[in-house]
Amino acid sequence: MRATRHDGSAVEVGTVYGIGRNYALHVAELGNAIPEEPLVFLKARTSVRGLAPSPMAFADEAFHHELEVVLLIGRPVQLGEDPGWEAVEGVTLGLDLTRRTVQSRCKEKGLPWTTAKSFAGSAVLAPFLPRSAVSTEASLGLTLEVNGELRQRGRTELMLFPVPVLLRHLASLAPLEPGDLVFTGTPEGVGPIRVGDGFRMRLESVGTSWTWDGVL
Ligand code: MG
Repeated sequence: MRATRHDGSAVEVGTVYGIGRNYALHVAELGNAIPEEPLVFLKARTSVRGLAPSPMAFADEAFHHELEVVLLIGRPVQLGEDPGWEAVEGVTLGLDLTRRTVQSRCKEKGLPWTTAKSFAGSAVLAPFLPRSAVSTEASLGLTLEVNGELRQRGRTELMLFPVPVLLRHLASLAPLEPGDLVFTGTPEGVGPIRVGDGFRMRLESVGTSWTWDGVL
């Protein structure tokens, strides 16, 4: 699908995993409980889009933006393996767009979140940086502005389940394949974004940062 690397090459996207409730202050802002293990959901790979305007399902709705660090799996991971960062080829930021009202209704009724999470244009991705470009030892900073207004600011050290734990958990469910993506959860500050809104995502690693501008 339509994901790209920083050098412009195309990424053939496989399974798109989403992690819910991975930052305590975001868990609190939605009134949820801290999970005992990573909360996993899926988005169709045809949900993926880039930073430029693109066909969106439910284009007249206000979505909730969830700014997240997104991982690109670079090599096969066997069932039950504990690969750590070594299986990650690329890192970027993305928006896990969510139909919050639909999701709340699904939660109330004990139904799957699919119609709230998986729809055309709901997985917004900046280009993937090579893993070697970011520090996997130190915390990464992530920031989102919408129409010039600061909405979300987080640090990956605050993840309830850090990246190696997420990958071990996912590989306990099924093998991972090159091209699989992992949306690693959002910090607090989720809020409305509409088609036509401009957004700026910034990823900070030790001594360096990347900024991407997009239009929903
Ligand atoms: Mg999310």
